[in-house]
Amino acid sequence: MTYRLNPIGYVRSCFKEKFAIPRQPLLAPAAQGCIELLPPYDQADAVAGLEDISHIWVIFLFHKTLESTPRLKVRPPRLGGNKSIGVFASRATHRPNGIGQSAVRLERVEAGRLWVSGIDLLDGTPVLDIKPYVPYADSLPMAHNAIAEYAPQLIAVSWQASALEQAQAHALRLQQPVVELVEQCLAQDPRPAYQQPTPERIYGVQFWDVQVRWRYLTLEQIEVIEVCLA
Ligand code: SAM
Repeated sequence: MTYRLNPIGYVRSCFKEKFAIPRQPLLAPAAQGCIELLPPYDQADAVAGLEDISHIWVIFLFHKTLESTPRLKVRPPRLGGNKSIGVFASRATHRPNGIGQSAVRLERVEAGRLWVSGIDLLDGTPVLDIKPYVPYADSLPMAHNAIAEYAPQLIAVSWQASALEQAQAHALRLQQPVVELVEQCLAQDPRPAYQQPTPERIYGVQFWDVQVRWRYLTLEQIEVIEVCLA
């Protein structure tokens, strides 16, 4: 039996490519975006009551990693990319039906638009449903997960003076916390675990409409070297 799902909206996000998106929501509070709702959910009736709610679950499609061949095991980056576990023990993007879920902060509610922060969602992500976060049911302090017990360890992020000035100027222009976004995302150490970076190797990613370039001074120290228009 097959079922047909229709997106109720699409994500407009600071993240224009998969690389350097945090591995879970709320790890980068400066990561902001908006869910643009489609008719008929773009009417005020559909979002009535959400102004009393601080966080929502976004149920979405991993539209950039959809695959036709089922995977039973996946290699989560968190385990270094060289150990595989069952797909149902992982939050990997390659999964049956390609469905993802993220609890994000709801900043502002408008008819047709939900402004959110702490997102781990790519620009253009199709949204299948939105549900309120319910603290008494969704927060489970006694729960444990030995595979992902703690948030990823952060590494240090420093700036070349010119790069910091560039980021501050783009922050003013975009009215977005660009400096914090760069620091919070790069501190997650976005590099694939198998890569041994050298200080000569330049990494880059696009946030909003700016290209951010950085290098690793050591395995635990990133230096941002440029923030320019993409
Ligand atoms: N919180 C969600 C969950 O648990 O279902 C997503 C977790 S998944 C490990 C997070 C990664 O998904 C991000 O680092 C990003 O690279 C990737 N991602 C985000 N949006 C995507 C999309 N629309 N298609 C494919 N990959 C996406």
